[in-house]
Amino acid sequence: AIPLVVAISTSISAKNGLLIRNRTAFENSRQVTTIIFDKTGTLTEGSHTVNKLVSLSQEHKEEDILQLATAVEQPSEHHIAKGLIKESKERGIDIPEVKDFEYQSGVGVIGKVDGTTYHVGGPNMLEKVGLDEPETDTDANETVVYLIQDKEILGYVSFVDKIRESSYDAIKTLKDNDIKCILLTGDNEKVAKAVADKLDMKDYFAGVLPDEKQDKVKELQDQGEVVAMTGDGVNDAPALAQADIGIAIGSGTDVAAETADIILVDSDPKDISSLILFGKATYKKMI
Ligand code: ADP
Ligand code: MG
Repeated sequence: AIPLVVAISTSISAKNGLLIRNRTAFENSRQVTTIIFDKTGTLTEGSHTVNKLVSLSQEHKEEDILQLATAVEQPSEHHIAKGLIKESKERGIDIPEVKDFEYQSGVGVIGKVDGTTYHVGGPNMLEKVGLDEPETDTDANETVVYLIQDKEILGYVSFVDKIRESSYDAIKTLKDNDIKCILLTGDNEKVAKAVADKLDMKDYFAGVLPDEKQDKVKELQDQGEVVAMTGDGVNDAPALAQADIGIAIGSGTDVAAETADIILVDSDPKDISSLILFGKATYKKMI
């Protein structure tokens, strides 16, 4: 006979768009007390449409900022890179080649274009280079990325992202069932707060680097919480591995999927609440 858990997990996965890679973790889903959500690409679509394009340098036109930032980002898998490439294509801008490309997860990218080294990234990158965050003409929900040469910010690009429609329902359902929901993001405080407020999540942490995401999971586990982590990016992999259940968004990076116990095939956060609640209900019936 087929063991009950196998039958159950096969049926729930087929119905709810879940790909189960680790059955033990799946069986433990009913014990989860805290769920951590990555923001970008998990609770949001990661659509990253370019909103503002600003040059802060005499020698660079707006489109030069876009061209250089896109060139440096070209090898990157990040939503920001995809947004830049799309915008450049739409404007018919030629993208020069990048050399010595380096990706610093949760920080940004570095590369050489025509012999000059550029840094492209958010607040963590500014800090690394030793620059203060400048005033920008942007709204709280916009993610801002800076193009830096030596110690000068040449310009910035802002992006708007959309909260996934089903994130609202997923968070509400989990909270109604006394599961603690936490937002964890490498993005800045303003954007993190805007998303957390919209989703009615009290607990959020911004500017979190990949190993700090893992530390946060560990800290909660040490307090006795059973932690599920949901993410889509390379930056989420250490936390996905640390969590009692790692859940990856199907449309995310391969690294996240390979590290996770469960993959959300339809990239739908609502499937997380279904998974946890179904696990609880099934277990109640069995005992
Ligand atoms: P999240 O944790 O919400 O998924 P990430 O850790 O991927 O976000 O990114 C956090 C921040 O790091 C971004 O908002 C951006 O400032 C910076 N960053 C990460 N990757 C890149 C990149 N490829 N280009 C520019 N900035 C990046
Ligand atoms: Mg992400």
